[in-house]
Amino acid sequence: MISIDETLFAKTKAIINKYNFSFKKNFGQNFLIDSHVLSKIMTASEICENDVVIEIGPGIGTLTAAAAERAFKVIAVEIDRTLIPILEDTLSRFNNVEIVNEDILKFDVMAIADKYGDKKLKVVANLPYYITTPIIMDILEKRLPVESITVMVQKEVAYRMGAKPSTKDYGALSLLIQYFCEPYIAANVPRNCFIPRPNVDSAVIKLDVLKNPPVEVMDRKLMFDIIKSAFSQRRKTLLNCIFNTGGFGFSKDEILEILNQANFDERVRGETLTLSDFALLADVIFEKKGNGIMEEL
Ligand code: SAM
Repeated sequence: MISIDETLFAKTKAIINKYNFSFKKNFGQNFLIDSHVLSKIMTASEICENDVVIEIGPGIGTLTAAAAERAFKVIAVEIDRTLIPILEDTLSRFNNVEIVNEDILKFDVMAIADKYGDKKLKVVANLPYYITTPIIMDILEKRLPVESITVMVQKEVAYRMGAKPSTKDYGALSLLIQYFCEPYIAANVPRNCFIPRPNVDSAVIKLDVLKNPPVEVMDRKLMFDIIKSAFSQRRKTLLNCIFNTGGFGFSKDEILEILNQANFDERVRGETLTLSDFALLADVIFEKKGNGIMEEL
């Protein structure tokens, strides 16, 4: 008996051969051929008939078709124009799919949110690894009205996104993601679930976008800059990391004073601090900067 996976693999092969399609490495083209993984993505994303789904990089339409069976509408944004006629063929049975030939980094997600204001907006993708962080951070930082982002990413990146303080995977990405979202890893995906087979394993991560951030901070950008600075040199103390990346205009003694004011030990490292700790530190720095400006005036 043929297993479902062999069917998806055979189907994918048949489409590739029919169109004489050649994979483009620069677009991160690794197509999913495992239907168990496909159902895990669908279960995690919880797509239903009131949802408008933006799919990033539909490839030959494997994930698109599964989403279209559940969603009100699927907007599939594909950069590779040679895939467009293939998608028009593989998705021809659906009248709720819109195929857009565009770079997702230039795509206007807000226009979709405005057009379908009464629906829930969800992002689903087997992401090309080279744009994983930029695209996710772009959606989050612009505060686009997206309910959730369910994506296949490189396994290490998924674990970094979900990591807690004082663990080896914890870093700036963990904090930036967890400021906006509640992450959970829905599946580990070995490299043999794709053709062509990538050099790394993957994982599916669901990011539920929070209505309100878990901490309040006076200047979010300043907090993010401090976080990036704190993890700029993993083995160094927070004090040295901040000083070595410019100190936000403060001398080493002043940074020490700031750390004391926030009740942090001078030997503390960024990897032990929580999001609340960074918010507190950012507020102390923000106020000190404000005072500095007042003094200069
Ligand atoms: N979703 C398909 C699947 O799961 O089999 C294909 C996934 S493949 C890893 C990534 C897809 O994203 C490719 O189809 C690639 O052409 C497309 N892509 C790469 N960069 C893109 C970009 N900047 N904007 C839109 N699509 C992109």
